[in-house]
Amino acid sequence: MSINYDIENIFAKILRGEVPCDKVYEDEHVLAFNDIAPHAPTHILVIPKGKYISADDFSINASAEEVTAFFRALGQIIKDHHLAQKGYRLIANTGEHGGQEVPHFHMHILAGEKIGPLRVKS
Ligand code: 5GP
Repeated sequence: MSINYDIENIFAKILRGEVPCDKVYEDEHVLAFNDIAPHAPTHILVIPKGKYISADDFSINASAEEVTAFFRALGQIIKDHHLAQKGYRLIANTGEHGGQEVPHFHMHILAGEKIGPLRVKS
């Protein structure tokens, strides 16, 4: 567990079963559920069960088994929801500049319509 990990963040509460979620996938290392405020017809959040804050924290500090499980789960969810043919967007907001609200590493899967261009600086 990262020294700065906030055990009271909302995804930690979901993992402990203290807050409900609309689960779409679960295995030993991974949980996925629908976003409570979807930005697309399909908006799924995929999180590791381990206490990792960010993509860099996860990729550096998680075990090979956890990293493999996370990306396998991502692929399985995309397959189960038939998202590959039309396409989808993966987003991992990180930190202040990345606009991360929940400090537990998560990947957004957005799909079901054209997601639109990435916002770039004008
Ligand atoms: P971030 O901005 O950290 O990348 O995204 C956090 C996401 O978590 C947001 O899209 C937000 O709607 C979602 N979220 C926040 N609280 C909850 C919750 O209690 N349940 C679910 N399912 N999603 C949540």
